[in-house]
Amino acid sequence: MRERKSAAHWRGLAEQLDIRTRAFIDGRYVDAASGETFTCINPATGRPLAEVAATSDPDVDTAVAAARRAFDSGHWSRLPPVKRKRVLQKLASLVREHREELALLESLDMGKPVSDSLTIDIPAVANCLDWYAEAIDKVYGEVAPTGDNMLGMITREPIGVVAAIVPWNFPLLMAAWKLGPALATGNSVVLKPSEKSPLTAIRLAELATAAGLPDGVLNVLPGFGHTAGQALALHNDVDCLVFTGSTRVGKKLLEYAGQSNMKRVWLECGGKTPNIVMADCADLDAAARAAAFAIFFNQGEMCSAGSRLLVDVRIKDELLDKVISTAKTLKPGDPLDPATRMGAIVDDKQFETVLRYIAAGTAGGAILRMGGHPAKVGDGGYFIEPTIFDEVRNDMRIAQEEIFGPVLSTIRFETVEEAVEIANDVQYGLAAALWTSDVSTAHRVARRLRAGTVWVNCFEQGDLTVPFGGYKQSGTGRDKSLHALDKYTELKTTWLKLS
Ligand code: NAD
Repeated sequence: MRERKSAAHWRGLAEQLDIRTRAFIDGRYVDAASGETFTCINPATGRPLAEVAATSDPDVDTAVAAARRAFDSGHWSRLPPVKRKRVLQKLASLVREHREELALLESLDMGKPVSDSLTIDIPAVANCLDWYAEAIDKVYGEVAPTGDNMLGMITREPIGVVAAIVPWNFPLLMAAWKLGPALATGNSVVLKPSEKSPLTAIRLAELATAAGLPDGVLNVLPGFGHTAGQALALHNDVDCLVFTGSTRVGKKLLEYAGQSNMKRVWLECGGKTPNIVMADCADLDAAARAAAFAIFFNQGEMCSAGSRLLVDVRIKDELLDKVISTAKTLKPGDPLDPATRMGAIVDDKQFETVLRYIAAGTAGGAILRMGGHPAKVGDGGYFIEPTIFDEVRNDMRIAQEEIFGPVLSTIRFETVEEAVEIANDVQYGLAAALWTSDVSTAHRVARRLRAGTVWVNCFEQGDLTVPFGGYKQSGTGRDKSLHALDKYTELKTTWLKLS
């Protein structure tokens, strides 16, 4: 059920917000050592929202040292899992208690509809923290099948200081996918949110302390990628670097790890998801609704967005007409209006990027079937109409590159073989979807798609029980599920010779 609160309710709440804007290090809010700040803009109005601490090298040093001290003290890292569980559960319940404030902050900071952040993002953050809290006292070590005179024990230990660098499209949720497993396994964390959306992460740190997390276990450093982010990634006392963001920056992080201490690096990067509709799809209406949702939800600012609609030529026109009629119901609007389904693009830079891709699509010969322009909402802000291209070839830029905006490329195919070939012919491999009523086609094609997740007759489904992450240049490792614990633990073998 979508919770419905009026726009007036949200505006009233926005006026009373006490926005935290400083870095959080060793259990308290501090200014950046340099005293510098940067301005967070509300993308729905283009107006300043907050002046936030711009941390850099000295703050990174202080935060990493605090995280290391906390780790070495054992107050968290050696706490019995059942006690860590209680603190994380308390944090999850504080997130739920403060859900309106967090949802509003998220929406004001990055432009998504507040009803989405209230009913999707923030509940998912709380559920993620709860899930790892619940899991952690049920994860056992192993005893190796040795001979009688030996005992070989295999145990998981926290790695130490984890740096988490996250993007702006689901700011707090992407942070939670790192924090849940990292904290549950006993690590200390230094979190760097995106400079485009730092506000909920800064607030979460305070809630974590209120939940009982010892000082220094969670530190939050707002700031830019080339300053705070780079210093964290190059830091010799960071043991593990977990990242969600672009493939371009992910590659840099691999270099930084090589240039410094060979810290473990786990990357969740970009995508160009093929959404394949076969001629035998049993429910074209459902496929069309899902295809529209797949690219226009969250303004298309989704790593897994179904940005390439691959359709059997025999049903292409019929399907596309249906997608367009759904898309017409998704006009961009004020993110604080509970009826709004599409909000603002995160900032002027991303807005210009998306418009440049739309121009490249037209120039490359694709047929613009819908949208293609900025949308007028209120008296400012960065809104773009839902945009649909037809007759796209897979070698065009709009089919190959991640646009990260509300732009759908429709590509025709004639055989299943050709569909698979087109689907796999990109640098990314995060997710894929296919629609068919033939169970053999479903299995055969799903096996051949080079993607970390394949949805059959649905899109964007899944919960915390399943891993999420990419093949190819969509990244390494997985978020969610117990598989995520691999990123945050070292395996230790203890070999005992018995007398
Ligand atoms: P981005 O790569 O520009 O930035 C991500 C983070 O990296 C930000 O915090 C940024 O400040 C930081 N950063 C930038 N340069 C850095 C540097 N040189 N050193 C260290 N840190 C640096 O990505 P974005 O624009 O914030 O997010 C969009 C991208 O995230 C898209 O490519 C999207 O597909 C991806 N994403 C992936 C997933 C997934 O699970 N695979 C989920 C969400 C988003």
